[in-house]
Amino acid sequence: MLIIKAAATLTHFLQQTKSDGALIGFVPTMGALHEGHIALIEAAKQENTVTVCSIFVNPTQFNNHEDFNKYPIDIESDIEKLIGANTDVLFLPTVAEIYPAGFTASHYNLGYLETVLEGAFRPGHFQGVAQVVDRLLTIARPHRLYLGEKDLQQCAVIKKLLHLQKDGTTELKIVSTVRESSGLAMSSRNRRLDAEALKNATALYKALQHIKANRQRENTATLISEAKAMLTSAGFTVDYVSVVNSETLLPLQNENEPAVALAAAAINNVRLIDNLRL
Ligand code: AMP
Repeated sequence: MLIIKAAATLTHFLQQTKSDGALIGFVPTMGALHEGHIALIEAAKQENTVTVCSIFVNPTQFNNHEDFNKYPIDIESDIEKLIGANTDVLFLPTVAEIYPAGFTASHYNLGYLETVLEGAFRPGHFQGVAQVVDRLLTIARPHRLYLGEKDLQQCAVIKKLLHLQKDGTTELKIVSTVRESSGLAMSSRNRRLDAEALKNATALYKALQHIKANRQRENTATLISEAKAMLTSAGFTVDYVSVVNSETLLPLQNENEPAVALAAAAINNVRLIDNLRL
């Protein structure tokens, strides 16, 4: 596996590789890799000739300093996992490589997508996400970009970003959520939970499953209240539990729309998110 730290080196290498006919698959991550990330790498490997994974803890997408400062970093083990998955290139930039002196932040017209759900609870978060993905796409110019459905709203934001880019040719690929056997969605933030909290954290998926399982016999508002109660009694502080259109993330207008239940809640000061298509 090649490890490239300089943006210009990655751009040059991938330009060369593309001119030799290679298809580039790109997997952006913030490291502390787990099987969810590896599923993205595997999807990219299946559909491309060269798979690039980036590890960059993007400061501009953290609206909470403590969350940023405590974000898990484990680069040695990440490199082992990426080699194990036969990743071709690891892009490991510094903040100065991504945001060089003189860099001016664009404002992205994300519309209502940044005012609902995660957007409402994490002001500025999706501007930071759009900014870093825009920079990474400019540097790598991949054919395909791989994102996880666990961050469903992030997928919608990046879909919008790709529409906003006039010269963009990158195709978005979304990979299903990988879970622990307990049902808990894999997340780098799970590393911050002790055994007891990890056990209690399974309530997040159970609450979403409760909504899915009882949707035919109970109205949505009642199910949301019940899901919130399940989370609270497991020790979570709930930000939201919501059922919306899975494509637009807007409130449901009728029964035939594709629906998704999403939740965000914190346990032991670690904020987790999850979603389940209904
Ligand atoms: P992160 O390192 O948390 O920024 O995540 C990097 C990418 O991995 C994002 O596209 C996430 O949606 C995706 N991802 C994170 N956790 C999972 C998971 N459990 N299953 C599938 N994809 C995931």
